[in-house]
Amino acid sequence: DDELVRAVHRIMSHADASRRLDVRANADNAEDAARARRFGAQGIGLCRTEHMFLGDRRQLVEDLVLATSPQERERALAALEPLQKADFTEIFQAMEGLPVTIRLIDPPLHEFLPDHTELSVKVALAGEGADDKDRRLLAAVKRLHEQNPMLGLRGVRLGLVIPGLFAMQVRAIAEAASAVPGARAEIMIPLVAAVQELETVKDEARAILAEVGVEALVGTMIEVPRAALTAGQIAEAAEFFSFGTNDLTQMTWGFSRDDVEAAFFSKYLELGVFGVSPFESLDRDGVGRLVRIAAEEGRRTRPDLKLGICGEHGGDPDSIHFCHQAGLDYVSCSPFRIPVARLEAGRAALVCEGSDTR
Ligand code: PEP
Ligand code: MG
Repeated sequence: DDELVRAVHRIMSHADASRRLDVRANADNAEDAARARRFGAQGIGLCRTEHMFLGDRRQLVEDLVLATSPQERERALAALEPLQKADFTEIFQAMEGLPVTIRLIDPPLHEFLPDHTELSVKVALAGEGADDKDRRLLAAVKRLHEQNPMLGLRGVRLGLVIPGLFAMQVRAIAEAASAVPGARAEIMIPLVAAVQELETVKDEARAILAEVGVEALVGTMIEVPRAALTAGQIAEAAEFFSFGTNDLTQMTWGFSRDDVEAAFFSKYLELGVFGVSPFESLDRDGVGRLVRIAAEEGRRTRPDLKLGICGEHGGDPDSIHFCHQAGLDYVSCSPFRIPVARLEAGRAALVCEGSDTR
């Protein structure tokens, strides 16, 4: 057994010495962060903050959605801020000075609200005696209903529409970072499609960081095709790009991430459109082309632009190989995939030696 462990260790060390890509983890809490480090993660490439608004905190999100005055909204945000600060503090502590990319809240609001049917039934059964909050929640659920929530009010759009939401998160990140010695925060804006969206959020974030006296990178996800195609402009306002290839694949192919695959993927496999689902292995001709365009144009604007990937593809060997060739700086994947990513990144560097694109 000892011999096997030593052999694995030797192979990993060889891969690590060869690779040019850094390997980070997708982790949303201190436990995952610690696990990621045990597997050799060099940082967190994606901390999804939406998970932090579930459980007991749903109540506060409901208050935020139901707020009818700026005062009510501020009260709800003020209640969330210390909780968020504690979340980020734990993660910074677990990462001990390694970079942590924190993505501001992304998903559609309805995910935090009660189910429409259940609530309708509850309100209808209660009749005259229905709880006032339930009635207001039901009205909000109806108001926020979208036919295509994944293409709707989420990501940066949410941040622009709800004043103070992103600012609350940025302040919590800044204060957590200032409380943990050596903390390295990177703030990431999701679902950006136009530089104006990013500029607005970045300026607000920069002002808060300056006020708290904390240094942090501010960057964006590239996960909407338009963002990839206008990367030269977007890089004016971003210090890093992280490719969100889950959404980028969805929007490039026009496939739904959530439900459509089973209906026709077997036909596509039969036709040879792809050998494996493009959600599993990065489609070089389409999605990959967008990644290359964004990398080249982004770096033309900002030569030191940092580039990473944090979609599921960041843990897939063939996609990691592509990321090496496209000149990315890091891949970020689930903690359990880190050893595979380290090996593949090393292999890609050895195989591509001499024929490097960078
Ligand atoms: C992505 O879209 O690739 C991504 C990493 O973000 P999420 O999966 O949370 O939408
Ligand atoms: Mg996404």
